[in-house]
Amino acid sequence: MKLQDSVIAITGGGQGLGRAMAVSLAAKGARLALIDLNEERLQETVALCEQAGSQARYYLCNVAREADVETTFAGIVNDFGKLDGLVNNAGILRDGMLIKAKDGVVEKRMSLEQWQSVIDVNLTGVFLCGREAATKMIETGVKGCIINIASISRAGNMGQTNYSAAKAGVSSMTVTWAKELARYGIRSMAIAPGFIATEMTGSMRPEALDMMTKQIPLRRMGQPEEIAHTVAYILENDYVSGRVIEVDGGLRV
Ligand code: NAP
Repeated sequence: MKLQDSVIAITGGGQGLGRAMAVSLAAKGARLALIDLNEERLQETVALCEQAGSQARYYLCNVAREADVETTFAGIVNDFGKLDGLVNNAGILRDGMLIKAKDGVVEKRMSLEQWQSVIDVNLTGVFLCGREAATKMIETGVKGCIINIASISRAGNMGQTNYSAAKAGVSSMTVTWAKELARYGIRSMAIAPGFIATEMTGSMRPEALDMMTKQIPLRRMGQPEEIAHTVAYILENDYVSGRVIEVDGGLRV
């Protein structure tokens, strides 16, 4: 895919990895459709994309709501005339142990709300946006690409029953879509980041972050631009599909 004049939608495009992807793709000439919940941050990202030399619009949309997603993708195709790529990047954390017990007494459990909220955004949101993007690409005859942001936690991680399950689901949906959508010329890929310096990891306890960083062979957290670089590589390389690329400084779960 040529990035110049392509139209790329990014969920969670208001901040963090989504913002870094948007600005880096804008600098390569892509036009951006930014999807998120926070209008102020979306406006800031639009301005940054324009400073980087391209056009961007924003769409307030909860990726977990079917009607929101349908309206948003119809709006994107109406506004830009086409859709070449989608990065399913919006995600949340609601960490907690499945069970916390002491001396045979269960003190705390992961609540159904904790489980469901993460599944809704991180798994159902990816399904809804991926389905809608593929629909629009097929209807407009675009041979596009869908990139899902998974996580190294997809292999299973303490305190992340909900998040790990969602990210494992996202990884296998990626492979399924690559197989199903290839007949329409649509590729599907995933990126599994390790620990990247964003607002999401900024909310972790400093001691926990320090402990994690010590376990990374490259001895540092990744930068959002390093994930953005991988997004551009996937979009530009028409022979990658159906795989999960780990970008984690050598950290393996
Ligand atoms: P972030 O800074 O928290 O940004 C995520 C964005 O998604 C926020 O702007 C958030 O908006 C938005 N969002 C949340 N729920 C949404 C919904 N229902 N509909 C639309 N937008 C929604 O996170 P990040 O670190 O950039 O992470 C981006 C992705 O990378 C996530 O999928 C995450 O799981 C994955 N990831 C991150 C890391 C890391 O180390 N940072 C590692 C592995 C994977 P609000 O703030 O308004 O909720």
